Amino acid sequence: MLPEKSLAWGRSKSCIRDLAAYGSARKAEIGEDKVFDFSLGNPSVPAPPCVEEALRRALETDSVQLHGYTPAAGLPSLRRAVAEDLNGRWGLGFAPELIYVTCGAAAGLAACMHGLLLPGEEAVAFAPFFPEYRVFAEGAGGALVTVPPDEDLRPDLAALERALNERTKLVILNTPNNPSGVVLREADLEKLAAVLKQAEARFGHPIYLISDEPYRELVYGDKPAPCVPAFYDDTIICYSFSKSLSLPGERIGYLAVSPRMAGRQDVFDALAGAARACGYVNAPSLMQRVAEQCLGQTADISVYRTNRDLLYENLTALGFSCVYPEGAFYLFMRSPEPDAKAFSERAKKHELLLVPSDDFGVGGYVRIACCVSTEMICRSLPAFAELAKEYGL
Ligand code: PLP
Repeated sequence: MLPEKSLAWGRSKSCIRDLAAYGSARKAEIGEDKVFDFSLGNPSVPAPPCVEEALRRALETDSVQLHGYTPAAGLPSLRRAVAEDLNGRWGLGFAPELIYVTCGAAAGLAACMHGLLLPGEEAVAFAPFFPEYRVFAEGAGGALVTVPPDEDLRPDLAALERALNERTKLVILNTPNNPSGVVLREADLEKLAAVLKQAEARFGHPIYLISDEPYRELVYGDKPAPCVPAFYDDTIICYSFSKSLSLPGERIGYLAVSPRMAGRQDVFDALAGAARACGYVNAPSLMQRVAEQCLGQTADISVYRTNRDLLYENLTALGFSCVYPEGAFYLFMRSPEPDAKAFSERAKKHELLLVPSDDFGVGGYVRIACCVSTEMICRSLPAFAELAKEYGL
């Protein structure tokens, strides 16, 4: 007898990866340039020069030390540098002792779920959400409760209030958001914090806010993404270098427990223990050195804005309705028919690979990844025009 859930997760590949696999097969069949694959959130720009420089420098050092185990929480110099980087942006007094270096945001999220949730306790996520949240929460013995968005696809705080109860242990916030591109501002965070503080007082225990920030640097307005722990003390930042440095396959990120959290050392220890129980050992040693050298830098992410503008302007001109993405690198487009899966299938007939929104916890939309070449977007526009015509837009 094998655990049913593990079997199910192992067998039901994500619909994003299924679509990407279909795309690869289809390209082999009809030619690379004939398929418009908007499925994956894989960065499309090279890592910045600081990555190569840091790699070269690291490879010149002692190989035994370079490739050896590091402390489980990460190299002390990296933890210090991360705290300094966060304090340089926001102040707040982030402490190296409360930074835990992870194998990307996914491992950080899993450590949070395993470290914080008791059996039967609830993790709350705002729809639309990254589908792996469910696997991480249920894998940790908890339950994922989802909060439907308001009509602009933004977090609905009245719906959040209704979802919170004595079993709620944590809330996951993802801004800039995958898949909607919505970015929360200071006023939104103030309101969210007020709801959570009230619930903490009502239920008599902490409700942790997990701020999942792999797209923190990818904002297109004038202002950078705000500092979530400045609004709510019981916050844990879950960061990743996957998107900012274009290093998703290298698996590097960190958790930062707010220095303002009551019981922060216990929470940090629980996260560390959970990471240990998951067998993470330490984040890749080489990449820890790279991250340390590249803090505060990004790949040339300007192309994502170009692509967003190109897609948004052209698709809305064709009559499609889209959420205007203020950050991240996706366009969330309303399906012209209620069934997004059926729409995605019809798009496939035009060689357009668009991810139906159902796995993100909302129906009726498709996600279009803007992290593709601008040239492919230009070539895909006639196919979008045909699709629009098919729906009488
Ligand atoms: N959270 C969100 C919202 C994501 O979109 C992703 C990846 O796409 C992750 C977490 C996981 O990122 P990582 O590659 O750092 O594990």
